[in-house]
Amino acid sequence: MKFYKPTLRLSHYTKVTLPLLKEMGIKGIITDLDDTLAPRNTFLPDEEVCRWVKELTEGGIRICIVSNNHKKRTKDFADPLGVPFYYRAGKPSKKWIFKALETLQLTKDEVVLLGDQLFTDMAAANRCNMKSVLVDPVGTYGGWFVQFKRKMEIPLRKKIPYYEK
Ligand SMILES: [Mg+2]
Repeated sequence: MKFYKPTLRLSHYTKVTLPLLKEMGIKGIITDLDDTLAPRNTFLPDEEVCRWVKELTEGGIRICIVSNNHKKRTKDFADPLGVPFYYRAGKPSKKWIFKALETLQLTKDEVVLLGDQLFTDMAAANRCNMKSVLVDPVGTYGGWFVQFKRKMEIPLRKKIPYYEK
């Protein structure tokens, strides 16, 4: 369980706010894309995610997207937001998380990893010894492997309480 456990669990990425990040001593976010910021079957960032990114970056927070999805999907989403991105990251691999930290020019203690999956996102954060925020998936669309992982997560998620303000 400790390999998958997030620092905080929130219902939605918009609950990650400037005051919360300040309280956590966080200056940057490495975020997952699919089902964290948008459902897998949407292609462009919606107004809500644009507003969230703008508000945080104007507040001094640096954001980088690290996705396991392919280049076009990640680029099409990240470019309109004006944030750097890495694709085919192979989370829970640590490699592109560390690349993202370099890009953000922050240390791992200053950055939180945001994601919707325990076995990829939260595991990657814990392997890197980083703080993490688990959110509920914003979409239900996904292939058999995603569905399989979601089923495996159900008993584990039940043990993680929400932290909401
Ligand atoms: Mg995801």
